[in-house]
Amino acid sequence: CLAGGSAKLYEHMKELAAEHENVQVEIGPEIAHIGVHKSGCHGFCEMGPLMRIEPYGYLYLKVQESDCGEIFEKTVLRGQPVERLMFRQDNKVYPSEEEIPFYAKQTRLVLKNCGHIDAERIEAAIAAGAYEGLEKALFEMTPKAVIQAITDSKLRGRGGAGFPAGKKWSQVAAQKETVRYVVCNGDEGDPGAFMDRSIMEGDPHRMIEGMLIAAYAVGAQEGYIYVRAEYPLAIERLKLAIAQAEEAGFLGDNILGTDFCFRLHINRGAGAFVCGEGSALTASIEGKRGMPRVKPPRTVEHGLWEKPTVLNNVETYANVPMIIQRGAEWYRGIGTPESPGTKAFALTGNVCNTGLIEVPMGTPLRDIVFDVGGGIPNGKKFKAVQIGGPSGGCLSEKDLDRHMDFDSLTKIGAMIGSGGMVVMDEDTCMVEVARFFMSFTQRESCGKCVPCREGTQRMLEILERIVAGQGTMEDLDTLRDLADMIENTALCGLGKSAPKPVISTLNAFRDEYVAHIRDRR
Ligand code: SF4
Repeated sequence: CLAGGSAKLYEHMKELAAEHENVQVEIGPEIAHIGVHKSGCHGFCEMGPLMRIEPYGYLYLKVQESDCGEIFEKTVLRGQPVERLMFRQDNKVYPSEEEIPFYAKQTRLVLKNCGHIDAERIEAAIAAGAYEGLEKALFEMTPKAVIQAITDSKLRGRGGAGFPAGKKWSQVAAQKETVRYVVCNGDEGDPGAFMDRSIMEGDPHRMIEGMLIAAYAVGAQEGYIYVRAEYPLAIERLKLAIAQAEEAGFLGDNILGTDFCFRLHINRGAGAFVCGEGSALTASIEGKRGMPRVKPPRTVEHGLWEKPTVLNNVETYANVPMIIQRGAEWYRGIGTPESPGTKAFALTGNVCNTGLIEVPMGTPLRDIVFDVGGGIPNGKKFKAVQIGGPSGGCLSEKDLDRHMDFDSLTKIGAMIGSGGMVVMDEDTCMVEVARFFMSFTQRESCGKCVPCREGTQRMLEILERIVAGQGTMEDLDTLRDLADMIENTALCGLGKSAPKPVISTLNAFRDEYVAHIRDRR
């Protein structure tokens, strides 16, 4: 929306509101004042810039500066809709966000407030329920009971591996060392992924609250949010949210009058993809070069500054407050038995409704692409989805009915990853796709270990040769051999998963590789 000019729309609407400063609007029996607020991301990126008018719930799409006057005159002052700015499908107009199929087919829990509250005002977050989970934890639960609730909820880390959050927290809580840290991984670097960014920008207090609850549970007094520097708005809003939370007594010393103290800092990452890996991330916070190290010891034992550390990503922490508030049983009622809850996906590529979506874990891929995503544009055929960025894999048409959860994807050698989903149509060359992802991981390899540093380079050279029409059938065998070697011997997840896009496309679209080779120049 910002790229589409929403900042100008905001200024324009503010000017119009200022001109009507003393105007009161009658809405039923109520008298209301006019206010203009910045929201976070609504998620319907394809249709941005978006503007929502309360209390009617009208969602206006692709709004231009020239529309502001009409919106103000008709809707703000008189409550009348501007239909031409509303979503239309099959001659039906959808006035409110909740009715639009893109939203109606989602289950927005983590993203519930994104686009609905003013992300720069703690009052708006509190009115939407922020910090109620923290209050419940502090006043009604022991730290042990909090860990038990997270364990019972079966919440799994949303950063990629799906490790049970409760298990991680209990391992940190069990350490002898009493200085402990809580760290948030906001270094989302997968091409096409922006789930964590939207949470940080649109509802920063939810994530901060999740970190506070984790800190209370494991006895940590200090925490860090590691955000990539390419997310300036997220950093700005997190800074503001931390300052507001400190002032309101949710952060700092003697939180809410208790003896629980927690300080939170922001650390900006400098753009290295590998810093999303736990040990590289903590090294980077310590001011060292961001490189993974051999494990064990694990982060839960020797994390930040060698101290026990809870390290989860943004979306994982954002799940925590509602689990504490509504209970583990409620949470387990959503998603699948082994992957409860929802998952946010960044739906991009050749799909009608690109945007940020949230669906229950286990939702079939077909529902995501065709119901929420609205299918493939320009009458083209679906071909594939790259899931989980460069660490994930390519799902083809035969996977359309596959359920999107940790275990279903692991079974076929793919990975849900952090939730990037790039949809491709029939015109996409899958060898080019594999080459793109391999060039990404090769560039991002930190170079510490030979299999990844040299192996990804050799795989990239072969893919480039094949794309240039100079490949041989032996190259396909060499690709598999190299992939096998890298997967088995690379030091960290970046290297181990680097061959996935190549192997998954080679498995599902071997004919395209062969066609490139047969068309040898
Ligand atoms: Fe670095 Fe790659 Fe080795 Fe990971 S696998 S440590 S990114 S060289």
